[in-house]
Amino acid sequence: MEIAIISHDGKKAEMVQFLNEHKNLLDSKHIELISTGTTGTKAEKAGFKVTKVLSGPLGGDAQIAARVAEGKTQMVLFFRDPLEKHPHEPDIFMLMRLCDVYDVPLATNPATAELLIKAI
Ligand code: PGA
Repeated sequence: MEIAIISHDGKKAEMVQFLNEHKNLLDSKHIELISTGTTGTKAEKAGFKVTKVLSGPLGGDAQIAARVAEGKTQMVLFFRDPLEKHPHEPDIFMLMRLCDVYDVPLATNPATAELLIKAI
């Protein structure tokens, strides 16, 4: 199962904490993590194996959206920062829209991510 992890700058520390709390599950051989660039670098520093795409503002969210459309990514955990402006807002909406089009589970905050992870 391929799970995408994405976090805006204000939420990256929370993402690393979330990953650490679920290390056993996320390290299992059934789970492949894919991530936008900077989030992925943080995850790697925390000891996770992650396939990184471009950084979000440079097209990373769009790349993950494409993987959702292609049926490659089966879950998206996206820690959004609603208090900041993002130059790549259109890409973010595209990702969320494609998750809805393809009925792919999408968490946009840690509480929902927690529930989705517990469902695996
Ligand atoms: P980043 O991108 O992981 O490269 O910071 C996330 C985003 O801003 O969508």
